[in-house]
Amino acid sequence: MAHEECVFCRIIRKELPSFEIYSDSYVLALLDINPVSEGHTLVIPRNHSDNLSDVDPVIFGKMMDRARIISGSMVKSGFAEGTNIFIANGTGAEQTIPHLHVHVVPRRKGDDIELNRWWSSKVIEVSSDRMAEITELLRNR
Ligand SMILES: [Zn+2]
Repeated sequence: MAHEECVFCRIIRKELPSFEIYSDSYVLALLDINPVSEGHTLVIPRNHSDNLSDVDPVIFGKMMDRARIISGSMVKSGFAEGTNIFIANGTGAEQTIPHLHVHVVPRRKGDDIELNRWWSSKVIEVSSDRMAEITELLRNR
């Protein structure tokens, strides 16, 4: 996607409005306009990266540290009781906006997100032989 058309690049250039909660020379944090809970925040790099495959590791570190700080603020202020940090990396993982973004999702006891129930329902069985094959495939790459 051309950066001129990228919705997050357009927000960074102030061509589109946003609910900005943090900004520095590397990252921007804004409220997600399709929140799954109140305060659902996105942390994005100022320089366009499609996803984890092309982000500068130093910038990625700054993104994750900002997600950590925002998460801490949400909990310390009493706005949330906990958070989930989430990245959809690539279209195969259902990334919908091709500009890397970290979700910080405020969570509260009794909210209806029920991530744990969803997760439990998706747990699959994998044999020990297959686990060993996967270990070989992924080790030290
Ligand atoms: Zn972009």
